[in-house]
Amino acid sequence: MQLSKHFESYEITSIFVAMNFLISSIKDTALKAIAEKVLANERITDEEGLILYESNHLSLLGSLAHHVRTRKHGKNVYFNRNFHIEPTNICIFTCAFCAFARRPGEEGAWEYTIEEIENIARKYQGKGVTEVHIVGGVHPKRDVHYYGEMIQRIKKILPGIHVKAFTAVELAVMIARSKMTLEEGLLKLKEYGLDSIPGGGAEIFAEDIRSQICDTKASTDQWLIIHETAHKLGIPSNCTMLYGHIEKYHHRIDHMNRLRALQDKTSGFNTFIPLKFRDDNNDLSYVGEVNMLEDLKNYAVARIFMDNIPHLKAYWPMIGKQTAQLSLSYGVDDIDGTIDDTTKIYSMAGAEEKNPALSTKELVYIIKKAGFLPIERDTLYNVIHDYSKENVQDGVDIPVLG
Ligand code: SF4
Repeated sequence: MQLSKHFESYEITSIFVAMNFLISSIKDTALKAIAEKVLANERITDEEGLILYESNHLSLLGSLAHHVRTRKHGKNVYFNRNFHIEPTNICIFTCAFCAFARRPGEEGAWEYTIEEIENIARKYQGKGVTEVHIVGGVHPKRDVHYYGEMIQRIKKILPGIHVKAFTAVELAVMIARSKMTLEEGLLKLKEYGLDSIPGGGAEIFAEDIRSQICDTKASTDQWLIIHETAHKLGIPSNCTMLYGHIEKYHHRIDHMNRLRALQDKTSGFNTFIPLKFRDDNNDLSYVGEVNMLEDLKNYAVARIFMDNIPHLKAYWPMIGKQTAQLSLSYGVDDIDGTIDDTTKIYSMAGAEEKNPALSTKELVYIIKKAGFLPIERDTLYNVIHDYSKENVQDGVDIPVLG
């Protein structure tokens, strides 16, 4: 134990020395000043964030982000055992980037009954899953009590499971439909068993972009106030940013700045999850997709800029296993979970992972092959199992780096 701590501090010191060497070789004075701030653990400004985005010095961005993640988490990479329930894809909204939503009766629409949802939950009895992630379309009729009953019945089948459920967009509508105030609605859902809130629905906060990609659903102010209220009521949450469509770098900085400011007030966000726009089957398909270098740059800038949000996640069903693996060297410390082929949101929008599912063994292998330490966590980042000393390579046959 003492030896491993010695190596850990040796590694951090080595990174620090290497960073100083790298910084001394930077010719660009603005970049150099930012790098020095990051090394001194100082917060960077919006303008400095923009300079990072506009830089093509990817190796420097990666090194700085790696330095920040090492300072926060050493070489730990977190994952969990989870599954998703998407109760319906029927939605009253029509976001331009969405390939998931359907109108009632439209081909491809689904709306599970609570009994069908119970059947999904039963499949995970005795499987060691610790989290169910529930998000879906904004249904025209379902309210807080309907979803509350759903949570209660899932927890009856899977006692102790953490229910992370409902984007701010779904919450805004179901709470209004139930004629409750925001506080009343969130407290009622907490009473039913809601444990935390996922980060979806944030998209891009800048109103000039939001009005073009999702003009009718929860506004920026609504999204932020829902998360702020949840945090005040003791309900933690995550946050996201949809990038790589019609937004510019300054919109991303504005978005992250609003999240960083809220986190300064509440400390309620656990994880920031950049979500890549995928271009199949939606009204923004003409835009195309950004490439992997842009994904890596985005992770790196996010890690450097979001100094107060503990974790940065690469959601592997969206970005693919290999990019998720690479992202670990660009500031990412979490690659989500086993998923077990229970989400359709990204496969319908063109992600390579058509049936996303990974065993614990595969996740551990992916993380180890990238040179990091795999740690199984629960939703709130309590350590469930440290796999760093276990050899799990036998029998794993998936295309990963290394
Ligand atoms: S992104 Fe969400 S709110 Fe928008 S159309 Fe799709 S399911 Fe509905």
